[in-house]
This record gives sequence, C-alpha cells and structure tokens, in this order.
Amino acid sequence: MEIDNVPCFLCHDTPDVLYKLCECLESNICAECYNIDNTQQMARCAICRRDFTYNYKRNYLILTKDVLCIVLLFIAIISIELFPPLHIYYKSNESQTINSIFISICLFFITIGNIILVDLVKKIILIDDNTIKIITMLYMLKEGFLLILFFIINYNDRINAIIYYIVFVIGIVYVMPLLFFSIIFMFNNFDELKKYINNKSQLRKIAINSYIFNTYREQIENEPVPEPVQKIYL
Ligand SMILES: [Zn+2]
Ligand SMILES: [Zn+2]
Repeated sequence: MEIDNVPCFLCHDTPDVLYKLCECLESNICAECYNIDNTQQMARCAICRRDFTYNYKRNYLILTKDVLCIVLLFIAIISIELFPPLHIYYKSNESQTINSIFISICLFFITIGNIILVDLVKKIILIDDNTIKIITMLYMLKEGFLLILFFIINYNDRINAIIYYIVFVIGIVYVMPLLFFSIIFMFNNFDELKKYINNKSQLRKIAINSYIFNTYREQIENEPVPEPVQKIYL
C-alpha cells in the first residue's frame, strides 16, 4: 500500500523531513522554505492563525559592535555640540550674567531641546531604515554647520561671539527644527482632538439597508419599522 507523503504547506514538496511550526495538522514546512526570510517574518500560522513561538539566538559580536558604535557616535555628537559654547563661554569678556544666560540657553537646547526634538520626530515620522539614514545625514550636516559657524565666529574678532552663536547656531540648528516639528505635531494632534470630540458627541451605527420579517409579524403598510434600539437596564 502506498502511503501519501506529507507535503510542505508552502512549496508542496515532499522531502524526507518536514518541520511542524504549530499544533495544527497542516503546518508542516520543508527546511528550504523554513529558512526563507519571508517565512521567518510570519507572526502567525498561515493555516490556523495561531501565534508562533520564537527562539532567539543573539550574536554578541554584532551586539557589542553596534552598542559601541552608538555610544561613540553619541559621545562625538555631544562633544561637538558642547565644545563651541563652552569655548565661547570661557573666552568671553562679557559680564558673568550674560555668560551664564548664554551657557544656560546652550545647555538647555543641547540636552532637553535635543531630547524633545527626537521625541517629536519619532511621533511624527515613521522610523525605518531609510529615515535612519536620512536622520544620520542631517545630523552630520548639523554638526558640520555648527563647527563651521563656530570657527567663523571664533576667528572673527569684530563680531560678538555670544550674539552670533545664539542667532545663527541656537536659532537655526536648535530652535527652528523644534518649532517646525512642534507645529506639525500640533496639527497632527488637532485631528486627533477632532476625532475625540466627534467620538464623544456622536454615535456611529451601521446604516440599515432593508428589513427581514419572520413569521411572527406581518409587515403592516405604513407602520414604521422599529429601530434596533439598545435597551439600557438600570
Ligand atoms: Zn517547502
Ligand atoms: Zn497552525
């Protein structure tokens, strides 16, 4: 008697070994299909829609390399952003009050301003591999612009370093993007607010297309059909 070979549920091949991914009878897969990236992206069984359980294997070399890269990049960015204002602060001939106000404004935008900006961008833009590349490029442009302006300001004795740094670096690099994304965020949230008010103030029901009457009731001419009113029991 010939036994029917069990097929792979994706390619219908009947190899010697099949792997069961789930409790259901048909979720049998061949090694080749199992190793395809798209298969590994599946969250649920294609046959019975049960959630898959996953095994994780971490590559610690890649993890260390990535974490180190991020930490070094972070230190580099913070150093580039902190160095110019600190340098201007220590070289400045202005009064202590002006110096303190200057360094406080710079520190505020470098720390809290940057955190708020990153948070706003994450809320507004869908972050994927491409946006990460664009954001990294913008960051490099930002740091480059910041350094160039710092050298222009620092080596030009005729201009007031503090005022120029506040206007051209803090204003353009920190305040403008923050304002830009805050306005977009407000507009996005305006829609959410409108939706919230609409949801609270109006009840949405599926429009009734026609009626079906069962044997217990004959349709009487001109008598209005009762609406399917939800009864509230007190
Ligand atoms: Zn297969
Ligand atoms: Zn299944």
